[in-house]
Amino acid sequence: MDAPYRLPVPSSSTGLIDKFGRQVTYLRLSITDRCDFRCHYCMAEEMSFLPRAEILTLEECLRVAGCFVGLGVNKIRVTGGEPLVRQNVLWLLERLAALPGMQELVLTTNGSQLERLAAGLRDAGVKRLNISLDTLHAERFRQITRIGNLAQVLRGIDAALTAGFERVKINTVLLRGINDDELIDLVQFAIDHAIDIAFIEQMPLGEIGHDRQDWFSGEEAMNRLRQRFTLLPSTDTTGGPARYWRMPETTSRIGFISPHTHNFCDTCNRVRVTARGELYPCLGDNGAVPLMPVLRQQSTDDALLRSAIVDALGIKARGHDFNLQIDRPRVVRFMSMTGG
Ligand code: SAM
Ligand code: SF4
Repeated sequence: MDAPYRLPVPSSSTGLIDKFGRQVTYLRLSITDRCDFRCHYCMAEEMSFLPRAEILTLEECLRVAGCFVGLGVNKIRVTGGEPLVRQNVLWLLERLAALPGMQELVLTTNGSQLERLAAGLRDAGVKRLNISLDTLHAERFRQITRIGNLAQVLRGIDAALTAGFERVKINTVLLRGINDDELIDLVQFAIDHAIDIAFIEQMPLGEIGHDRQDWFSGEEAMNRLRQRFTLLPSTDTTGGPARYWRMPETTSRIGFISPHTHNFCDTCNRVRVTARGELYPCLGDNGAVPLMPVLRQQSTDDALLRSAIVDALGIKARGHDFNLQIDRPRVVRFMSMTGG
């Protein structure tokens, strides 16, 4: 934490462009593989986490992010694991927000630490928050997360609203037979709190025995919600997999993140860096480039790191390859490793 770090000089290059002509402007940075929950769709019950020496230090996270921003990235989402269980996370966030060229620093969290940290996150320069919430029933919440406490997360959401982020969004993973009877209640919760909600189709990641029986499509969710709410198409886009709808007389939007049913790869603008410093150009592909060796061999000069990042874009796949029909997931990482 004490090592001095020089802010990178913004590059004069035309940015990070892959071989299919897509420009990368958005980095999803996982700062830990650890978490205080064990959601069934994300982690195994018994997880072995990485030793501390094998994950990027906060200074290394900042160095990597600084290189990306120097190469034209203007939006960073900090994620995990649970990013808010990482010690001194505010130290990093303040510095990420201050990188020259950064426009949007955003964060995804399970909400467990927000009561304590929401105001600090806002002061550090985080503009928007995604908070995961799959159910409004305490017992179900405990079952889905294995150890989570719903009341704590709801208090965290209140703290986030008090802190005054530009936008707060709920992320809900669609789970047939587990929370599909709550879709309307969850949307009503979002409307009552004047926040957005996005429904996510479950992705088969990691060797955690995904139960294909509980998969529920965004399309079916939308059809159900249409019976209660008027959904007006919106042109709002993040350049990613979410399609948004507005509801008259509310400020809330409903998003559907449907990697199986709607292909969004043509406009993909993002890459991911894991807590271990692996650069994954595509969430749905196993191709990755390790940045840690370059970072640790060249502790001050960022030239090699920048060229490793530029070269890595060469392996960005044209599209992802999730397949619910095959026996084993083709992508064998846990979501908590890659940062959802
Ligand atoms: N711990 C934080 C959280 O839960 O919000 C951030 C990391 S989590 C990996 C990011 C997002 O990925 C969460 O919204 C979570 O619900 C989602 N997620 C995890 N595993 C998933 C899976 N197999 N399919 C779809 N979404 C998943
Ligand atoms: Fe933790 Fe988020 Fe994964 Fe749940 S989805 S286990 S909260 S990292």
